[in-house]
Amino acid sequence: MEIMPNYVIFLTNRCNLKCPHCFWENGVRDQSLSKKDLKRILKNLPNGRSFNILLTGGEITLEKDLLIYGLEELKKIRKRKGVINLEVQTNGSWLKDDEETYNLFEKFYELGVNNVQFASNDQFHRTAGFDIRKRQHIIDKAEKRFKKRMQVWGVYAESDLYKRGRAVENFPDSSERCQYPLKYEKPTRYSVGDELRQPRFYIFPDGNLNICESGIPTPLGSAIENSIATIERKMSEEHQAFIWKGISSVLTQRGLHLEGYEEHPCSCCRELYKD
Ligand code: SF4
Repeated sequence: MEIMPNYVIFLTNRCNLKCPHCFWENGVRDQSLSKKDLKRILKNLPNGRSFNILLTGGEITLEKDLLIYGLEELKKIRKRKGVINLEVQTNGSWLKDDEETYNLFEKFYELGVNNVQFASNDQFHRTAGFDIRKRQHIIDKAEKRFKKRMQVWGVYAESDLYKRGRAVENFPDSSERCQYPLKYEKPTRYSVGDELRQPRFYIFPDGNLNICESGIPTPLGSAIENSIATIERKMSEEHQAFIWKGISSVLTQRGLHLEGYEEHPCSCCRELYKD
């Protein structure tokens, strides 16, 4: 399987939920990219190599105009840029059994989205009062409607196998696992090991590019002001290793052995970048 980078673009950190594990709770909320800056970021994506894009938030549908704008822009440049997989990630709070909901799915499909992913099937979102399982029938309908054209799926149970963001602090003793996986569970796709090995770059709503979604390491540079290929070329050897070989290689180089880190990747960044 070809290993290609994934660019995760946080269009916004606005959200209509307040989940106790959310890493946005670490800092500034209510930030969204402007259309102008999003266009510049998309233009700054690398040329001449294949990669995947994940558009997410916050809750991305709170910035629906920006999302649709971004998808329209991506549609224009997708082939030239080499975007293989285009994914939209949402908490699913907008799902209603009505035409507006299905029209939005249609719009995603028209604009080339390959996957719509509902990332809220876990104990932490339920603690915040949101239970996606109650909207399962809508996901089912959409999945049936788009079968083989666009994947509509709930996040896999494996994503709940480790704690990230503030769950590391807020649920220190929790060993609870997701007990009610959505039926779209596909354990091999985002298993913990894969997640750790997947090269992922994160672009925040202020335009800064980081190697970790926690935003704990110092940002590598502005993806609004610089070509992403240039930022990547200037990365330190350790950051290169973080992205391409996984966090475990960095831990080894530093002589660290964080027990159980595979279940708590966020603990790693806190340990590695605590200064
Ligand atoms: S839905 Fe996602 S972005 Fe919103 S508060 Fe929960 S974890 Fe954070």
